[in-house]
Amino acid sequence: MKLRVGHGYDVHRFGPGDHVVLAGVRVPHSAGVIAHSDGDVLIHALCDALFGAAALGDIGRHFPDTDPRYRGADSRILLRRAMALLHAQRWDLVNADLTLIAEAPRVAPHQCAMIANLCSDLGVDEDRINIKATTTEGLGFAGRREGIACHAVVLIAERTSP
Ligand code: MG
Repeated sequence: MKLRVGHGYDVHRFGPGDHVVLAGVRVPHSAGVIAHSDGDVLIHALCDALFGAAALGDIGRHFPDTDPRYRGADSRILLRRAMALLHAQRWDLVNADLTLIAEAPRVAPHQCAMIANLCSDLGVDEDRINIKATTTEGLGFAGRREGIACHAVVLIAERTSP
């Protein structure tokens, strides 16, 4: 079986606002994020991991932030398009593991909703998607609560059946 691994990383700076969007879920927070789209770091990292695994470049190539069509964009639309591109090249997602890095907000109460959104957009069962979160013990930009980051790792496999 042909397998490929991909990694993605994204950061958004906190700015004015009262919530952040993570995996399409509106999570209340004392700040928002500064972004051209909805600033969904989790989905942006995931898209980059998918593109990386399939050797299709990166999210900036497919959805440039200079393109007015993506202003305030719902990143779930981008994720569905990214997965459709992979499916068109006969790649299926085996699993994805996501690590959010932030002192706040706490995502545990939203984890089920976040995973449900991703499974719906990616067309996979819930045992294939993992979301975890960590702080940096007060160190660095995340520790200073200046922003939020996410790492994503995916494995994809070439479809052997029609
Ligand atoms: Mg981003």
